[in-house]
Amino acid sequence: MIKTISYIGLGTMGSGMASNLLKAGYELTVWNRSVEKCEPFARKGARVADTPAAAVRDVDLVMYSLSNDQAIEEVVFGTKGILSGTKEGQIAVDMSTVLPATSVREEEAYAKRGVDFLDAPVFGSKQESADAKLWIMAAGNKAIFEKVKPVLEHLGQTVHYFGKNGNATAMKLVGNLIVALELEALSEGLVLAQKAGLDLNTVMEVVKVADFRSPLLVGNGQNILKRDFSTSFALKLMLKDTNLIGKFGESLKSPIPGLRIVEKNLESAVRLGFGKENASAVIKALEKEAGVEVKAR
Ligand code: NAP
Repeated sequence: MIKTISYIGLGTMGSGMASNLLKAGYELTVWNRSVEKCEPFARKGARVADTPAAAVRDVDLVMYSLSNDQAIEEVVFGTKGILSGTKEGQIAVDMSTVLPATSVREEEAYAKRGVDFLDAPVFGSKQESADAKLWIMAAGNKAIFEKVKPVLEHLGQTVHYFGKNGNATAMKLVGNLIVALELEALSEGLVLAQKAGLDLNTVMEVVKVADFRSPLLVGNGQNILKRDFSTSFALKLMLKDTNLIGKFGESLKSPIPGLRIVEKNLESAVRLGFGKENASAVIKALEKEAGVEVKAR
């Protein structure tokens, strides 16, 4: 049974998950590049490690949620990285959104040290992470998945098993392809509605109930009308994901024409300076082109 856990990467998503591990009673060690993010966890009884390698010493399980493939390169494979601190019998779980090929590379590197590995990325955002309501996918050895599942159940409302390593990250990219297109559809729709002079509150009332409704459209639509772009999922991370989906789609010769358009709009929004805002700020690139601002009266 898993009792001791290290959580590495205390950003928007990792901080919520690490808090819920503490609440669930696990003995927790944390590490984060910006050390001040460890302080609230130290106050709640977590051990703070100096390096990722030191963080994994003597724990049953190490979990991490890091920005991108580059961060995995440094924090997992780098000097004093997670890998170098592991020992036989431990389990590592990567909850970041990365290329499926990166998950496979991680699995192979951990296997050489006798360490089991799951890729376990998540759907949901800041709130779902804080509330332990994430939708989690996991891939890797089935017996190891069964061992880790009770831990994942403290973090999410669903846990789906996807088979071999890389399949859960593949599913994450499939989902984020849909998310990116939904956000683009919402943004184009709201700009068109504004240009047509429709009452935007009534537009959102219809979006809430019609057969194309989704929590993502409703939540982001309402925030856009309030001009609230505070970050749950940063626009620059959405762009990072569209780049990953592009590479993944191309590697499988799967057509992604819609995604390419969203990617261009995300790039425009980053150039306009909105990369650190919420992904819904992609609408600002369209607003600029349209010469309007979408806002409830
Ligand atoms: P975030 O708030 O930007 O946090 C990123 C974390 O990665 C921070 O702990 C950051 O450390 C660390 N990091 C980045 N580069 C690093 C490096 N080179 N070396 C060491 N640490 C590094 O991002 P997030 O929103 O939590 O997202 C984390 C992952 O979950 C990403 O892969 C994202 O795509 C995915 N995800 C996010 C959401 C969402 O809604 N936010 C939803 C699902 C999945 P510092 O604190 O020092 O910067």
